[in-house]
Amino acid sequence: MHPDGERILLSEADISAKVKEIGEQISRDYEGKELLVIGILKGALIFMGDLVRQINVPVSLDFMAVSSYGTSTESSGAVRILKDLEKSIEGQHVLIVEDIIDTGLTLKYLLENLQARKPASVKVCTLLDKPERRKTQVVADYNGFSIPDEFVVGYGLDYAERYRNIPYIMVLRREVYEVRGGL
Ligand code: 5GP
Repeated sequence: MHPDGERILLSEADISAKVKEIGEQISRDYEGKELLVIGILKGALIFMGDLVRQINVPVSLDFMAVSSYGTSTESSGAVRILKDLEKSIEGQHVLIVEDIIDTGLTLKYLLENLQARKPASVKVCTLLDKPERRKTQVVADYNGFSIPDEFVVGYGLDYAERYRNIPYIMVLRREVYEVRGGL
């Protein structure tokens, strides 16, 4: 394991089995339809890349980048769009792909923002969920793993832009973010 990790929470095998399962479920649910998959950068990048390869209905891809105001490990709910979609989503079946739902505030904002653009439907797929931390009522239509309230990195998730390339998900040792002043 990476030396900054306290323990591995989800192994590569855990993740790939789950991604396959979710991909199959999405393929069944959208049979006969086309899907616009919107990845939320940068955290969802790796999950999205693996997930879309398990989906067998026609998909197109787009991306949004948002930043939530707050400290690096806690979001405040105020969201700013750093990168918007390339095209209109009107009349399309949209699937938002997120890395993790924590307080739910980012997702609430995204859902409201995208719904206002008149898609045919909007669903949410998240790899990870921390249900204990929810500050607003949002539910993912597809959820990989519900996890405890611990700060995790790897498989796209970062701390200060590091660790995204680790192929598994690990709990970050507290010393790492306390020493570097993250909280
Ligand atoms: P929310 O608005 O739901 O509180 O925030 C979701 C965002 O917070 C995620 O997209 C992610 O960027 C960040 N986040 C929440 N929990 C974690 C975590 O345990 N690890 C990492 N790396 N990011 C997290």
